Amino acid sequence: MKREKIDIYKGHIVFTKTKDHFTILENGYVIVKDGKVVDTYTSIPEAYQYVPVTDYGDKFIMPSFNDMHIHAPQFRNRGLCLDINLMDWLFSCTFPEEAKFSNLDYARNVYNILLKGLWKVGNMRSLVYNTIHKDATKLLLNMFLECGLGAYVGKVNMDINAPDYLNEDTEQSLLDTEEILMQYQGISDLVHPIIAPRFVPSCSPKLLCGLGYLAYQYQAPVMSHLSEDIVEMKLVKSMYPQFPNYGSIYNYYGLFGQTPTVMAHCIFSSDEEIELMRKNGVYANHNPTSNCNLGSGMMAVKKFINRGVPVGIGCDVSGGGDISLITVMSYALSVSKMVSLYSNKQLEPLKLSEAFYITTKGGGSFFGKIGSFEPGYEFDALVIEDNYIKFFEYNLYERIQQFIFLGSSENIRERFISGNNIKEPMFLL
Ligand SMILES: [Zn+2]
Repeated sequence: MKREKIDIYKGHIVFTKTKDHFTILENGYVIVKDGKVVDTYTSIPEAYQYVPVTDYGDKFIMPSFNDMHIHAPQFRNRGLCLDINLMDWLFSCTFPEEAKFSNLDYARNVYNILLKGLWKVGNMRSLVYNTIHKDATKLLLNMFLECGLGAYVGKVNMDINAPDYLNEDTEQSLLDTEEILMQYQGISDLVHPIIAPRFVPSCSPKLLCGLGYLAYQYQAPVMSHLSEDIVEMKLVKSMYPQFPNYGSIYNYYGLFGQTPTVMAHCIFSSDEEIELMRKNGVYANHNPTSNCNLGSGMMAVKKFINRGVPVGIGCDVSGGGDISLITVMSYALSVSKMVSLYSNKQLEPLKLSEAFYITTKGGGSFFGKIGSFEPGYEFDALVIEDNYIKFFEYNLYERIQQFIFLGSSENIRERFISGNNIKEPMFLL
């Protein structure tokens, strides 16, 4: 019989069971059995007295971060071309960079640096777009498998309205996607393939239809972009005038919650579109740094939360520059205050606990029982040493507030996924 592996960690435990409250245990314990949380305690229960304790002293132990939206091939472009809008940015800056991923040596180099970055900032699980390239997508899946971080990785599909060098043959795009699904589905608890049409303007009806069928056939999850930009919205309306909203086009093709689905941005989502997301359980993914950089607009994230749409958060590199979700979390709080102001305070701003919740448990729920320390959750965790109290006295809640607004990857001391302490990825493959 296999022996159980039990670990006990001591520190200031912080997590959000619900969006409205932090659970904080000062000098608390979290007990982990075979990678899953048994529970959190203020003292060690009798049955576990014999287990050695890893004591993190005055540090915090909190759930690690789940990035719901990043484009791996755009990692080199962070901070570039951010003085233009979405469509110009795609054609002048992003598509030329993505074309380079037909070269696997180039791709490997970028992915190596990306994976080290994800580890460093504590994004232990991510939803990752690649390019149209099948081989580079497989390479990225293999590198995630090698380094121990969690991810859904999607080969991007696009067969219209792109430069010739990125326009796929429709049949080939579907065949390549199916090959990846067949090869990688079910081979790992941490790393999975996902279907990733770029967005409606770059996919023909035939491609969307084929991808919907693959999603159904393989029960594969889906991620894409939704209602991000005014120019994009006009283009979509001109392509599909008969549909009531953008989301209903994905829905028609079986790509909107028929299998687990995440839609990024949702800035211009109508009430109807939000209701369709709620009904179908489609995740809304908030990318406030990207939305500010590209001047796309401000997502009313609180509206989605209030209406019961599942919500996560993403860095959206390279529309977003910083892969740290600590930065993105503080932007989400700031943007929600502007949204509140411009709604004449009809909409409340995000609460601090809500921002933390969507960054941990909200997005984490897409990956499974992830992002909390309730019983049965995977022990995905960060150990945080905040430096601010060197000079002044703060209580624990004040320290959490400061970490959200002032913290960085420099504060992260340990990183766990499913109970395993993950070390920095070395150069891989
Ligand atoms: Zn994106």
